[in-house]
Amino acid sequence: MTQLSDDLLIGAHTSIAGGHFNALLQGQEIGATTVQIFTANQRQWHSAPLTEEAIQQWEEAKEQTGIQLVMSHASYLVNLGSPSPETLVKSCKAMELELARCHALDIQFLNFHPGAALDDSVEACLERIVASLKNLEKQAKGGSTKLLLETTAGQGSCVGHNFKELGYLVMELESIVPIGVCLDTCHVFAAGYDLRAEEGWDELLKEFSKEIGLEHLLALHVNDSMKPLGSRVDRHASLGKGEIGSESFMAMMRHPQLRLLPKYLETPDPSIWKEEIQLLRRWAN
Ligand SMILES: [Zn+2]
Ligand SMILES: [Zn+2]
Repeated sequence: MTQLSDDLLIGAHTSIAGGHFNALLQGQEIGATTVQIFTANQRQWHSAPLTEEAIQQWEEAKEQTGIQLVMSHASYLVNLGSPSPETLVKSCKAMELELARCHALDIQFLNFHPGAALDDSVEACLERIVASLKNLEKQAKGGSTKLLLETTAGQGSCVGHNFKELGYLVMELESIVPIGVCLDTCHVFAAGYDLRAEEGWDELLKEFSKEIGLEHLLALHVNDSMKPLGSRVDRHASLGKGEIGSESFMAMMRHPQLRLLPKYLETPDPSIWKEEIQLLRRWAN
């Protein structure tokens, strides 16, 4: 299937300051066809519930901007694999509220960091993530939001930096909750996957296919990396200004298995998002 570059789903993480609808308007300003948002303050456990007015304004802005596909990024505080019972309970509750907001706003994807093992083993952490997400089964069936595990850079004790771990989570959960993966280019590069050239992408997708299954690759975070290959440090750079380089993003836009996936910039300079989006569209042709 071919798709015009105008139809490609490309956007950025826009801001809900002043109302959720503003994220859609900002998206329109930068030429986005999809956006990622935080549905609440990402650094607080508690948030005020969505008002009817906020939902109404959101629906109107969707109509007005034509931006229909939206991804939510869960709070950074959520750790569904935490060894601390207290944090685990708080995280599960927060995730329930995240999903409820996604359902209320009719958001297609809820992206989240799988979890961090802290002082416990990776295996125990993965088991807790599975159990935490299984708890969402009933709620998840009440809407159409898919839960997306984000590939991590492997910073500190964060799990999900290799496809084996993500593949395990997907395998355990796919029959219970709607689950997929959002691949972050900066994170996988920092985790050691060399995607600087087309062959690198081919290699990466081969492994993704083997360990997770390509049908579970549902979105991309498109970021260059300030830190070198395998550094396991998560520092985003603007496209072409980091260690990954433009060639990788050109190959990504032309790759038949990546071209049509929704893509979100989380690059550090929002003032050039418009140009970065234009650049990605140009590279797709
Ligand atoms: Zn993230
Ligand atoms: Zn990152």
